[in-house]
Amino acid sequence: MNTVTRPRILVVGAGFAGVECVRRLERKLSPDEADVTLVTPFAYQLYLPLLPQVASGVLTPQSIAVSLRRSKKYRTRIIPGGAIGVDLKSKVCVIRTITDQIVNEPYDYIVLAPGSITRTFDIPGLTDHAFGMKTLAEAAYIRDHVISQLDLADASQDPVERASRLQFVVVGGGYAGTETAACLQRLTHAAVKRYPRLDPGLIKWHLIDIAPKLMPELGDKLGSSAQEILRRRGIEISLGTSIAKAGPEEVTFTDGRVIPTRTLIWTAGVVASPLIATLGAETVKGRLAVAPEMNLPGNDGVFALGDSAAVPDLAKGDGAMCPPTAQHALRQGRHVADNVIASLRGGPMRPYVHKDLGLVVDLGGTDAVSKPLGIELRGLPAQAVARGYHWSALRTNVAKTRVMTNWLLNAVAGDDFVRTGFQARKAARLKDFEYTDAYLTPEQVRAHVEGTSRQE
Ligand SMILES: Cc1cc2nc3c(=O)[nH]c(=O)nc-3n(C[C@H](O)[C@H](O)[C@H](O)COP(=O)(O)OP(=O)(O)OC[C@H]3O[C@@H](n4cnc5c(N)ncnc54)[C@H](O)[C@@H]3O)c2cc1C
Repeated sequence: MNTVTRPRILVVGAGFAGVECVRRLERKLSPDEADVTLVTPFAYQLYLPLLPQVASGVLTPQSIAVSLRRSKKYRTRIIPGGAIGVDLKSKVCVIRTITDQIVNEPYDYIVLAPGSITRTFDIPGLTDHAFGMKTLAEAAYIRDHVISQLDLADASQDPVERASRLQFVVVGGGYAGTETAACLQRLTHAAVKRYPRLDPGLIKWHLIDIAPKLMPELGDKLGSSAQEILRRRGIEISLGTSIAKAGPEEVTFTDGRVIPTRTLIWTAGVVASPLIATLGAETVKGRLAVAPEMNLPGNDGVFALGDSAAVPDLAKGDGAMCPPTAQHALRQGRHVADNVIASLRGGPMRPYVHKDLGLVVDLGGTDAVSKPLGIELRGLPAQAVARGYHWSALRTNVAKTRVMTNWLLNAVAGDDFVRTGFQARKAARLKDFEYTDAYLTPEQVRAHVEGTSRQE
């Protein structure tokens, strides 16, 4: 018989925020102080900022998937699945396991760190025809897809088909979209040398954004440098422009242009995980509204952080909330662990304060722009800072070694542009990768929890 009386801490999501929190809890709490459980659909922590380098083949997918089970010190119980609802009143989290079983997990403390999903708009055809850049599967899939466009264009006798397979559209001029367009353009630029029948002049990359600037957080001068680098490499940048309609073989821009293409990559921002809506609590732009201590006011033992929470940015002030970045998420992870421990031991919680360290943008090869601590860098120094920052932020030495080896190998031996064919015949657009339809409504969560407790 299970006679556990220790407080139960449930962490949802094994990303930057969730894993940092769990590791800190493991380090600071003795095993008989609390039971720690982690719910995660995957057995790894994904280092998202390096996804564009997986898509372009500079890194292998495994090198940015950091294992959750590398050490015996990792004593947390891991439930392989996704949380699909939280009932705050009964303190129960409803989970769909990876074998599709629905289980109830009671908690005393819950730390919500399920991150975000790709933000989409009501644009005809978007979710059916666009690819995202938010999961490891998407990055690996896009690489295969782009190489397959070169293969198919090379084999085609139809000039119209060729032209459409060799145009690529990326929507979103933030760091994710800009790095994706830059890294993939380098891939096609290098790969086309292996296709003597293809005219390299037919390959065209478009990067579009509704905003008037790329990556406005870089400032005017550095933002213009990034644009200049991309334009020099032949990427057509259209600002103040979005998508009006997406189809299987063409995309219509809001300025009326119709681009024949089979590749639309959508990176126009993120919204909090749909799990947050299942709580029925107050949100700010979809993110759970939490106090500066990252607890949910009026609900003891509930904490949220990272991309899924609206954490006040006290360093900025003026009612700002922390931007959805890894930089904040991992620091919030450590901080929330301290606050959970404080509330468990009856101590005071501390508000989260962190001053942004800046931004690094890797545009592939020696092209980069970075702004560490407000210092504007371009070219090699910027690249050294960008790679140095990511490398040092990787959590384990094994991941660091894999990434460094991949970088060196790629610099020396280049890429072989191999198309693996995994997923080739499966549905693989935005809606297929992010499982957004898995969640319950707040009423369904309550009904499920009440129904199952009656049966017990
Ligand atoms: C292409 C790209 C490039 C980026 N580059 C940078 C950069 O250069 N610098 C920077 O600071 N930030 C960058 N970011 C943003 C950064 O990656 C995010 O802000 C950060 O990952 C947020 O951390 P998180 O822990 O909140 O969420 P995540 O790291 O996304 O982790 C969420 C975790 O929760 C899991 N999960 C989701 N739903 C559920 C559920 N229902 N139940 C259980 N688990 C769930 C997910 O599988 C995931 O493991 C980039 C993002 C992208 C997509």
